[in-house]
Formats: sequence, C-alpha cells, structure tokens
Amino acid sequence: MRIYKVGGAVRDRLLGKPVTDIDWVVVGATTEEMLAKGFRPVGADFPVFLHPKSGEEYALARTERKSGRGYGGFTFHASPEVTLEEDLIRRDLTINAMAEDDQQNLTDPYHGQRDLEARLLRHVSPAFAEDPLRVLRVARFAARYATLGFTVAPETLALMRQLSESGELEALTPERSWKEISRALMEDQPQVFVEVLRACGALKVLMPEVDALFGVPQPPAHHPEIDTGAHTLSVLQQAALHKQPLTVRWACLLHDLGKGLTPEEEWPRHIAHEFKGLKLIKAINERFKAPRDCQELALLVGEYHTHGHRALDLKPSTLLELLQSFDIYRRPQRFEEFIAACEMDARGRKGLEERSYPQANYLRGAATAARSVAVQPLLEKGFKGPELGEEIKRERLKALKAYKETASI
Ligand code: ATP
Ligand code: MG
Repeated sequence: MRIYKVGGAVRDRLLGKPVTDIDWVVVGATTEEMLAKGFRPVGADFPVFLHPKSGEEYALARTERKSGRGYGGFTFHASPEVTLEEDLIRRDLTINAMAEDDQQNLTDPYHGQRDLEARLLRHVSPAFAEDPLRVLRVARFAARYATLGFTVAPETLALMRQLSESGELEALTPERSWKEISRALMEDQPQVFVEVLRACGALKVLMPEVDALFGVPQPPAHHPEIDTGAHTLSVLQQAALHKQPLTVRWACLLHDLGKGLTPEEEWPRHIAHEFKGLKLIKAINERFKAPRDCQELALLVGEYHTHGHRALDLKPSTLLELLQSFDIYRRPQRFEEFIAACEMDARGRKGLEERSYPQANYLRGAATAARSVAVQPLLEKGFKGPELGEEIKRERLKALKAYKETASI
C-alpha cells in the first residue's frame, strides 16, 4: 500500500499558499485492508475513508466512467491494480492532478507544475467534459487565483463552452451548484467567477437574469461605467475588497436584476427596477436553494437599495417604513448587511470607489432613534392591542423627525 498527498494540498504547497485540508490517495490497497487499519468508510459505494486519528480523507485510487447524465451517472472502479497515473487522469485540472509521497517526491504525469508556472488552469483530459460541475470549479479556481495571474487555458474554455451548450449544466443539483457558487463568492476576486462563466456561455444557462445585464446601459451621470453588467461585477469586487459576508455578496450580485427587464425605449433609465427585479431574485434564489438569510437579504436589498442611497432625503414616514420592513428591532444584523450592500453598490461605480457614503451612518443613526422609543411607558399609560402598535409607531415617527432635524444640521 502506497499513500500520496494529492490535489489542493500539493498545488497550494507549490504555490507557497497555506494548506488547510489534505486529501490523500491510497494505491495498492483493498477496502478490507483499510478497514483492518482502523479507517472509517465515508460513503457506501464510494471508496473513501477517514483516518482514525486525523480525520483526513483517504481515497482508494480509482478510475471513473461516465454512464449517464448528471452526477449520479458515474461508475467507479477501485482496485489494488489501479495506478497513481490512472487515478490522476480523472481529475479536473492539471494543477490539481499532482501527487506527492512522504519524501515530497512529485508525481506529475500531466504537467501540473508547468501549468502552475504558466499560470494556466488547464483540463487534464477530454473526460473533463463528463462532469458539468467542473465548469463551476474552474470558474471558482479562476476567481481564487486571479490575483496570482492565473487564467483559463483557451482549449479548456472551449470545452467549458461545449459543456454549457450541451444542456449538461441543467443536470446539476441545486446543492452542488450552490456549494461552488457560495465558495466562489467568498474568494478574493468573485467577479472573475462570473466573468469566466459568462465567457464560456454557462452564465446564460445558470443565471440568465445576471447574463442579461450585460449590454444594458445606465445613465452616465450616476454610473460612469454605464454597463449594468460591468457595474454588477464592480459591486461584487467591492464587496470582496471590504470583506463582506456571503449574504451581502449574494445580494450584491442580484441587486439590479430588474434592469435587465427594462424595455429598450426606456434606456438608460430604469423606472421601478427595484420592484420589477423581485420576481427574478426569487427565481434565482429558489433555483439554487440559497440559504434563507441569503434569500431574504437579496430580496430586501433588491427592493430597497435606492431608498438606502436616498436616505438623507427620505421623509421620516418613509424612513420609518424602511426600518419596519427590515424589522430592525429583532433583526439588527440584517439591517447592517443591507447598509453594507448599499455602500458596495455606491462604491461599485467607475471612479467613485473611494467616495464616502454618509448614508451608512445616517441609516444607523435612524435605526438607533427608532429603537430608542421605550414601550414600557406606553403600557403604563394604558395602551394595548392595535392601539399600542399605533402609538409606538407615532412615537418612533416623532423620534425620526427629531433625528432628521439634528442630523441635517
Ligand atoms: P480546495 O482548496 O478548494 O479544497 P481542492 O483542489 O483540494 O481545492 P477538493 O474539492 O478538495 O479541491 O478536491 C480534491 C481534489 O479532487 C481536486 O484537487 C481534484 O483533483 C479532485 N476533484 C474534486 N472534485 C472534482 C471533480 N468534480 N472533477 C474532477 N476532479 C475533482
Ligand atoms: Mg481540498
């Protein structure tokens, strides 16, 4: 039995990046031998085990064959005869298809090291096209390593395009897609993920609502970058630069979907795009079964981001409605995330990235003012039921009026 480090751990060590999780491949062993050594099996029909002490993943060397559509349509073959080279050839990218023994001797039959030096994401073999998830994986690696200068090899992009056109992407489950999308959004350059998907035609299939934003103009006075797609990418980039959480990044990606529905005669204006976009945001949320907090924030940011930008001009009553819609009393963090998304939207405009965003503190102050209304004294005055609710609202409105006056001095 011979044991090798494979995949990300080898790649990232060669890149001089920190290695977080290590994947291992075991050549020349049987399931029985693994179990006898105390390894715990992970899946029923999958020859993968967890190390009894470290908990790291050890997979028996295996070959794969495509036997149908989608992820389920694979036959695995693991046996002590499968060689390291045979195991490595089924992997997605050459830089992910290197192995290393405990002496750091590299096995690199598909020239991963050469591609690391050339900063190229290149597929290992034509079997790449057998798993549509690889389109998303390559786009995610492109987002992660863009800062180091990596790009997708033209022949790999061509294969990705072929996969996108074949209809295979539609066979991906929401869970597998979301896992890649969410990880990609958390990379340093999440906009590169979207760009690569667009370049190979996968964006049109997976997120046609986002794809439709490219080529849609906005008024140059507010949006010097003009193109709505370019703007969306910049907003996402700002969100990463400002280390925003996944909820905010997802909301940033979807905030302007309504602009893709504007009739051309109305360009470059986008009347009521906030409201029109909601059904698109809902559709995309559901398509990928995004977690509830991501879904909620995306819808709220979609509907109210213009309110955020106009915060200083809003009437106290409108401001109160905004705060009520966010349920700021029970969900303070969600309102903070809304403010962050609005700020990223404002910064995601060409040449305006560094401009201050006074709306953020103004909105925080308004929330504090509304929250400062104490309920207890109103209860003591004898208000109850719907009357109490009305009275609380009146008091909050008063507090916001006072806030608006002091804040604008
Ligand atoms: P990360 O740093 O994101 O963990 P990784 O390269 O280790 O990157 P994993 O998802 O942990 O990625 O997978 C480990 C290895 O398994 C990959 O490097 C690759 O060789 C292989 N692999 C994983 N998923 C696929 C896939 N869908 N198709 C082909 N090979 C894959
Ligand atoms: Mg890994």
